[in-house]
Amino acid sequence: MRQIVADLHAELVRYNLVVWTAGNVSGRIPGEDLFVIKPSGVSYDELTPENMVVCDLDGNLVEGEHAPSSDTAAHAYVYRNMPEVGGVVHTHSTYASAWAARGEAIPCVLTAMADEFGGEIPIGPFALIGDDSIGQGIVETLKGHRSKAVLMQNHGVFSIGKDAKSAVKAAVMCEDVARTVHVARQLGEPLPIPQDDIDRLYDRYQNVYGQRSPR
Ligand SMILES: [Zn+2]
Repeated sequence: MRQIVADLHAELVRYNLVVWTAGNVSGRIPGEDLFVIKPSGVSYDELTPENMVVCDLDGNLVEGEHAPSSDTAAHAYVYRNMPEVGGVVHTHSTYASAWAARGEAIPCVLTAMADEFGGEIPIGPFALIGDDSIGQGIVETLKGHRSKAVLMQNHGVFSIGKDAKSAVKAAVMCEDVARTVHVARQLGEPLPIPQDDIDRLYDRYQNVYGQRSPR
């Protein structure tokens, strides 16, 4: 899991979702009440499986030489309250954070959004770092919502997935649609997709699309 989480941080760089040391990926260790997360303040070039840190679901450091990411409490809160979640990602990616700065959900006006998010990408509350406020805002917004990403107001993106890779994919797709819908807005009003078509697209992509897993 240290290897997987370390490697996935390189994807945040590859897709231009992060600058400096901002942003982080975590992955739940299957069968344990533990997760692996980025160390605080270490640059992306220096991330290795060895310097990833292991925390318990209260965000306490269990194993590692470095202090865990300053966003660890938010990740831990999600893992405690959403047992189906196996990965969490946080970025300040530019276009998605611009929607967050306005407190505006990204409307579902692209089939790719219907596929991946099943509707709009919602806004979560304004919350300060330091206690469980960010984690609570993520969970309150995403529980019962199809979207695997939330735009925390005035802050940035938190995404979740069944594993860390799936949460990274949601973060990448969130920025992609945030950018396209922003561009669409420049020359007019994007056309909404009817709800029953969104439902059909979401169902197909989630249940039929891609390679079938071997039985
Ligand atoms: Zn942040």
